[in-house]
Amino acid sequence: MNERAYDVVIIGSGAGGGTVAQELSPLVRDGLRVLVLEQGPRLNDDEFTGREGEMAPALYEDGGGFLTADGTMMLALGRAYGGSTVVYTGTSLPPPERVIERWDVPGLEYPDLLRRSAKHAAADNVHYLEPELINENNRLFVEGCAKAGWQAGQFPVNVKGCRGSSLCNLGCPNAAKQGTNRVQLPAAERAGVEVVTRARALVIEGRSVRVRVAEQMPGEKGLPSEWAPGDYRVHARSIVLAAGAIGSPALLLRSGCGRALPRLGERFTCHPAHVLVAEHARPITNDVGHPKSYYLDRAEEESFVLETCMYFPFTTAKNLTGFGADHSRFMHAFPRLQMILVLACDRAVPGNRVTVDRAGKPVVHYRFTPEVIEALVRATRASARIFFAAGALRVHAPSADPPLLERSEMGRIDERIAARHFKPGKISLSAAHLMGGCGMGRTPADSVTDAWGRVHGIPWLRVADASLFPDALHINPYLTIMALADRVAERIRSEAGELFGVAAA
Ligand SMILES: Cc1cc2nc3c(=O)[nH]c(=O)nc-3n(C[C@H](O)[C@H](O)[C@H](O)COP(=O)(O)OP(=O)(O)OC[C@H]3O[C@@H](n4cnc5c(N)ncnc54)[C@H](O)[C@@H]3O)c2cc1C
Ligand code: SF4
Repeated sequence: MNERAYDVVIIGSGAGGGTVAQELSPLVRDGLRVLVLEQGPRLNDDEFTGREGEMAPALYEDGGGFLTADGTMMLALGRAYGGSTVVYTGTSLPPPERVIERWDVPGLEYPDLLRRSAKHAAADNVHYLEPELINENNRLFVEGCAKAGWQAGQFPVNVKGCRGSSLCNLGCPNAAKQGTNRVQLPAAERAGVEVVTRARALVIEGRSVRVRVAEQMPGEKGLPSEWAPGDYRVHARSIVLAAGAIGSPALLLRSGCGRALPRLGERFTCHPAHVLVAEHARPITNDVGHPKSYYLDRAEEESFVLETCMYFPFTTAKNLTGFGADHSRFMHAFPRLQMILVLACDRAVPGNRVTVDRAGKPVVHYRFTPEVIEALVRATRASARIFFAAGALRVHAPSADPPLLERSEMGRIDERIAARHFKPGKISLSAAHLMGGCGMGRTPADSVTDAWGRVHGIPWLRVADASLFPDALHINPYLTIMALADRVAERIRSEAGELFGVAAA
């Protein structure tokens, strides 16, 4: 076993880990050694080809096909230098005040989170897209919302030099999206933080991490690891877990922390989503332009959010219910399709949680509550109204039976789209906003960490990722994750004297 020693080891390099790496880089100036371990690969710029069949296996956990335990929902999570920020769309919203108040975590104040998310939004070049980059798929959404009586909001996005290739979820081929792979990690590395890719943390044993560095397989995208393949024991004076809402609780469970932390893995939420598609009479610009420029936030009133979206042919095909001629006809209409992503605002409930199997692999248990099903049905009805108001000929709604609604049925939307047709396993459901599992709170009886990400009872172990959320955020989460990670890093810096014997940076 190879042995290494660092002052701080950060596990995971996504929204949380990338932020902590950059925020701790001043410690390197003081002579401390900071390491990031990332299980995914580091890709060269020219390897981002935008081809679905190549990029999904290279950038996503299980190639994008990670399923919940009962197989009814697909969870999307990145696995690369930059984590899920490599594949996110970059829509950048601050945390909602009402949600943070409802979380009721002592020591977590909304103004503090807002200030920190604004700091990271500025660093990531967050702004409203120029009008010429707004495509017709998005304009039709705005128009449909207005005619149906709602006002769509424009998403601020974190792009620099966006060329509207619409391939954000396959990793931006134009280096425009400002994920942690573009901003925080390179800055941290320039300052002396070490990042080791293809390095999977297997288990935490006291103040050390057992790590397996994988060999690059023939034909696999990316660079070889910075370390030679093999097993390592990495000693650390402080460990920061940022392996995401599935990876962090799973690692702690593998490390035997479940007994002392009874809430570990619980409070998993994910904004369950599905894609709705509508057919227009004429081609619309959909697969060029930024894909996600507008949204409709009905979270407070009706527990759903609608977002514009544009998915690639394979993903679109899998999202359509049914087979054969009807399915094929819709796919042939691809250049005439308008798309909306429907997200339910779920709540943490008993039973929805992350566990590990005997081999230590994460297993996500998720049950669709009646409230979530009703929210998805309301969201689908609202989307159908928006599609028809925007001029669509027919709408494909998975919670209708049969799933195709013709324009002549506009008056029967509530009757046709109903909860009784919502059959998990028959409807293609997915989620990309994975939250919870190491929730913040007061004591081990109600949570895993305190408001500063410190694991109860283990002062040298902190969590800095989406697993900290004690409940769903009800809006796109990455800026809130960065704000929480910023707090974690600040605490480590301020305790540097106690932890490492150096003055606070
Ligand atoms: C397709 C998609 C689109 C999205 N779009 C948006 C959006 O537009 N706006 C928004 O706000 N949010 C969006 N999100 C969500 C957002 O990207 C995530 O919420 C956020 O990146 C989560 O941050 P994190 O640090 O918790 O985890 P991640 O960013 O997922 O990073 C975790 C990292 O830890 C690594 N890891 C896990 N286990 C180990 C281990 N044992 N050892 C070493 N490394 C490990 C993983 O490989 C991964 O790289 C999107 C997500 C997806 C998948
Ligand atoms: S739309 Fe813009 S940010 Fe998205 S992949 Fe294309 S260039 Fe990159």
